[in-house]
Amino acid sequence: MASKQLKHTAQLDASIQERDVETQVKSTYKAVEVAAPCAYREPEDVSRRLHRAEMRYESQIETQRRYIPMKSINKVVKISAQTMRKVLKRNSIRFAAAVLIALASFVAAPNAALAAAPQHHDQQPGFYRVRVGELEVTALYDGTRAFDPHWLNGTKATMDGVVKGLHEDPQMLDVVDNGFLVNTGKQLILVDAGAGTWWGGGALGRLAGSLRSAGYTPEEVDLVLLTHLHSDHVGGLTTQDGKRVFPNADVYVAKVESDFWLSPDVAAKAPKDAQPFFQSAQAIAAPYIKAGKWHAFSGSDPIVDGMQVVPLPGHTPGHTGYEFTSKGQTILFCGDIVHAQRVQLEHPEVTAVFDIDQTAAAATRNQLLPKLAAENVLIATPHSSVFPPLGRLRKEGSGYSWVPVVFTDRWDER
Ligand SMILES: [Zn+2]
Repeated sequence: MASKQLKHTAQLDASIQERDVETQVKSTYKAVEVAAPCAYREPEDVSRRLHRAEMRYESQIETQRRYIPMKSINKVVKISAQTMRKVLKRNSIRFAAAVLIALASFVAAPNAALAAAPQHHDQQPGFYRVRVGELEVTALYDGTRAFDPHWLNGTKATMDGVVKGLHEDPQMLDVVDNGFLVNTGKQLILVDAGAGTWWGGGALGRLAGSLRSAGYTPEEVDLVLLTHLHSDHVGGLTTQDGKRVFPNADVYVAKVESDFWLSPDVAAKAPKDAQPFFQSAQAIAAPYIKAGKWHAFSGSDPIVDGMQVVPLPGHTPGHTGYEFTSKGQTILFCGDIVHAQRVQLEHPEVTAVFDIDQTAAAATRNQLLPKLAAENVLIATPHSSVFPPLGRLRKEGSGYSWVPVVFTDRWDER
């Protein structure tokens, strides 16, 4: 059974390895040209202009001063006090004119100044907080990569539509990768850890930086809940030289999941191309196992107050969601129930080559999505087409649309 399922993973791995270095990085770092802010100029621009005009006329006065004595020598004419007053008066009139010209050019031609402003290609830090009852939930950006249409399995008509859509909008399958931090007031709980250096060819692995930008440190994290052991979700736990990135955290993962990826027997039976998945999972888990910080739970084991484990099998054998409820509000950390939002929400029957059991993955999605839409559950997704990766589902025809949480720079009390 394992080897048949893992065939998908094997195909996936080969194409990903190539893509990681080539296409993913290129498309992720597609230049995002940020236009210089255009409508408003800071006051110092005016004073800089005035200063430049002043300097210009200072130098003209200086030229005239030098010029007058020359004339006086040539013509042997002494400059009377009256002449000097006239010169100074003329200069002051010219200076006033320069001021007016500078002001006029500020009003009439702002584009001339904008052309001189350097572009800024850096972006804002990747985190976003929402309130869920008494919980503070922070989405942590790990990176963005392009999803290959060949990684999706659907009917010919659907997939033709995807290829056409991608032609019209090359960003249609761009996927934002995320983890999440839940601050319960008592504990800091990380849900998935991003890819670290284990996946994504350099396009991913920003999560720890996003965590710091959000005002926390990896050392402060008490618990890590893992949806599954694919390296884009667990790579951020461990450095390549085997150090724990979250040295004080206890890591929890479903026993079925842990047993599958960490089993030397299962790994030995897996196709050769699938071996890296097992190797990375084992290397990432190793320092936590050694430190007694790796915990494999069964369905009914309580882990955190106010949190429910939601088994979502199919994508991987022990793929798990985590649902937190506080003061009547709920958020579901849904794991890889959907990879390409803009395709799989409209066509929930479409599966991904990442799904080890494609039939079970589709069945789980078909059961879960109607429930989430009907109950208007807030969803935190590790793979989104927008950031923040938080939103709700709305039924639309035979599929669903994503209703994103709208960005605000305030702490929304609702
Ligand atoms: Zn994933």
